[in-house]
Amino acid sequence: MTGINRAAALWIVVPRSADRPARAAGPIGVADGHFPTSVDLSLNHHGAIMLRSVFLAFLLLLPLAVQADEPFQTGLCGDVRVTGWPVAEVTGEGGCGIVEPVRLASVAGVRIEGEALVSCAFARTLADWAEAPALNGPRPVVALRSSAAYVCRPVTGGAALSNHAYGMAMDVTGFILPNGREVSVRDGWNEAWRRGFLENTYAAACNRFDTVLGPDFDAAHADHFHLDLEPGGWAAAYCR
Ligand SMILES: [Zn+2]
Repeated sequence: MTGINRAAALWIVVPRSADRPARAAGPIGVADGHFPTSVDLSLNHHGAIMLRSVFLAFLLLLPLAVQADEPFQTGLCGDVRVTGWPVAEVTGEGGCGIVEPVRLASVAGVRIEGEALVSCAFARTLADWAEAPALNGPRPVVALRSSAAYVCRPVTGGAALSNHAYGMAMDVTGFILPNGREVSVRDGWNEAWRRGFLENTYAAACNRFDTVLGPDFDAAHADHFHLDLEPGGWAAAYCR
């Protein structure tokens, strides 16, 4: 028992026995022929015991909560470029789940803002993309905004699981530059002077991921680049 838990236990046990000397000998209302009245059940007494119980339960559960939240780490996934929080296990219904799950803080120095639960395999490829020249021009990308990472769902309009369901996909909606400005896929795709930047980042993704879909694919992708890897290994690149 930790020091704080022992102190809490003493705090709870000692006042209770002092509060109830006459009742400690036997069941309430039987041994002494006295039945509890509304006064015996007053909130002052029982409320205090309940509060202490809740407090003790909180202290006992505290170490579990800390264990569940892994500390921030660098060099995750065997890659010095990957930082974030390791996740023990991710499983879902119907075969959803992630092999080597990780919640990303950054890849190759580029922050991930938003949804960031992916597999290590995806994280390493995302780091490759973050290092591509297209993302490291005169105003290098400092953060990616993600609207979806791990999601246990089938592909749109189909029965097979989406690669999002394996932590092998991310929907990138924007690129944040050093001045804090964001080039969003939705707006930038229709502006000549941002379109070039976005097309270059898109082409760089096609060289690294298995499937890349963007605003030209369909209306559902008007505001993001869908990047994914095939869970079974490399597949013919599909870039639309
Ligand atoms: Zn997607």
